Amino acid sequence: MQKLKQEMETADAIVIGTGAGLSSSAGMSYDGERFEKNFADFHMKYGIRDMYSGGFYPYDTLEEYWAWRSRQIMVITINVDHQFQLAGFDKKRLFYTQGDYGLWQCSKPCHQRTYDNEGMVRKMAAEQKDMKIPSKLIPQCPVCGAPMTMNLRCDKTFVQDDGWYAAFHRYNDFIRRHEGKHILFLELGVGANTPVLCVLSASLKPKTITIKQQILCQFVNNSNTKERRCA
Ligand SMILES: [Zn+2]
Repeated sequence: MQKLKQEMETADAIVIGTGAGLSSSAGMSYDGERFEKNFADFHMKYGIRDMYSGGFYPYDTLEEYWAWRSRQIMVITINVDHQFQLAGFDKKRLFYTQGDYGLWQCSKPCHQRTYDNEGMVRKMAAEQKDMKIPSKLIPQCPVCGAPMTMNLRCDKTFVQDDGWYAAFHRYNDFIRRHEGKHILFLELGVGANTPVLCVLSASLKPKTITIKQQILCQFVNNSNTKERRCA
């Protein structure tokens, strides 16, 4: 802790990478009361136990899948995704490397563009009945007609659109401007599923110390974190 305090006081810049663990440790859990309140019917019918795993359940119909997703997006974007903006961080200083619950993309994908889903998701959440949305609300790609899907990185179909690249370039510029200076890379609540800084910094070779906080554990000062996590 003392080491971290010292690093924070002497660093020229701080780059923070965060994962879902940060939200969890702040009390934004994917299960428990919030889950039971919003998803009791899905738990009863399918035995789903938390908001994360429900996204991978093989629902019989797209109507059910989107009934789940729309509720999940409502709960997560309101409670988790926007915490940094609510805390006063400028949106231009945030980079959602792994995607955004507020965006959709073509599932193929046939083109590299994402779509804001808020209006449609609100409609789906409001109009669903018996765990199904009306069929007419199932989102389709406006270009090829394939089903739309979440803009979340899980495989090679992840769409990196103009907004993603703009944020990526802002991040690279920031690192370049601070080249040779003392940058503190801080990773908080990041698990093996969604490494943040090791991926971004692989080509940038930061020569500074990486301090990683393991979720709910003590701080670990480990200059080899990058290599180990990327292996
Ligand atoms: Zn398409």
